[in-house]
Amino acid sequence: MAKLSIKDLDLAGRRVFIRVDFNVPLKDGIIGDDTRIRASLPTIQYALDKNATVILASHLGRPDGKPSPKYSLRPVAERLGQLLGRPVVFADDCIGAPAAKAIQQAHAGDRVVLLENLRFHPEEEGNDPAFARQLASEADLYVDDAFGSAHRAHASVAAITKCVPSAAAGLLMENELHYLGRAIESPEHPFVAIIGGAKVSDKIEVIENLLKKVDRLLIGGAMAYTFFKARGVAVGASLVEDDKLDEARRIEADAKARGVELALPVDHVVAERLDATAAHKVLAIGDASIGNWLGLDIGPETVKRYAALLADAKTVVWNGPMGVFEIPAFANGTNAVAKAVSNVTGTTIVGGGDSIAAVKKAGLDAHITHISTGGGASLEFLGGRTLPGVAALTDK
Ligand code: AMP
Repeated sequence: MAKLSIKDLDLAGRRVFIRVDFNVPLKDGIIGDDTRIRASLPTIQYALDKNATVILASHLGRPDGKPSPKYSLRPVAERLGQLLGRPVVFADDCIGAPAAKAIQQAHAGDRVVLLENLRFHPEEEGNDPAFARQLASEADLYVDDAFGSAHRAHASVAAITKCVPSAAAGLLMENELHYLGRAIESPEHPFVAIIGGAKVSDKIEVIENLLKKVDRLLIGGAMAYTFFKARGVAVGASLVEDDKLDEARRIEADAKARGVELALPVDHVVAERLDATAAHKVLAIGDASIGNWLGLDIGPETVKRYAALLADAKTVVWNGPMGVFEIPAFANGTNAVAKAVSNVTGTTIVGGGDSIAAVKKAGLDAHITHISTGGGASLEFLGGRTLPGVAALTDK
């Protein structure tokens, strides 16, 4: 169902509370990557252009419900000010007198305030209604732009929507719902999903839902070995989830019943140890000479096959690396898939920190239709779950 958008709101002269996801990597007060701040700039700029005062709230890390300088959003306020080209008032607390004072100051001045980390209060993760009321008390309007937090029913995304006249999606949230929603509701075919990473268990739900939609499902990363072991194929010391063998068999049977092509690697890069300096070589899948070595990347034949299965795709969803891409010797598969996805002429959606990092590192991000900012949230959405942060938005 279509959700109310920030574009539907009358923003002029109003104070709009915008829940953003500014959960950036931070070390010793230095921001490692400001992608998440940049991702909400269009929404913030839109509200400013319409003459609203913008009250920004976010979580950062896991401070466990108490104030901690390590998790302060203050450095983010500074970076945001540089990106917006205007001063940003910082409130030392997200509720109470510090918040009210900062909001009044911003309202009378440069119209942007960033509140301190929401998770300094345990009530945020507790979805506490009284805390939500306090958060909303200085605002006239509410906008949620934090797609990355939409899978958690926390006070600033769920309970708060009961304290405001309506809950609208910001531009980033709207974009996520548009592309992910279309992929899952009315994809153009052939629809190909590529799922990688370490664990099948994290992704069973999304795989099961995708099987109802896709024409081809390409599996890579360690999770392939759970499928191989379930088939009785030799996997050496590769990472396997032994308690998920039945799930793997069920997924294979379901794919077959639905006529979905479930592609598993045909060769792999195996190494003596999980280590950058370990001896490594390419072997066919099932080659018993793997002995006690472990598979750490898809091999060159698999890369060719996966590229061929992607070539005519009209919709592609990719989440999870094809190998231990953090180590250059085992990054070829992931890099090659990033390249193959970027060559697709249809709609391409990449989610999950590792796949996004691979696409960016290869300088291919401009060739991807949509880079989803929410790792867990986009997987849950694609898995067919109703996300609390999306359900809480006002229907149009
Ligand atoms: P996930 O969080 O499930 O998406 O898994 C991502 C992690 O899986 C990355 O850190 C990769 O290094 C790791 N990974 C991918 N392929 C393998 C593999 N064959 N063996 C061990 N780890 C892997």
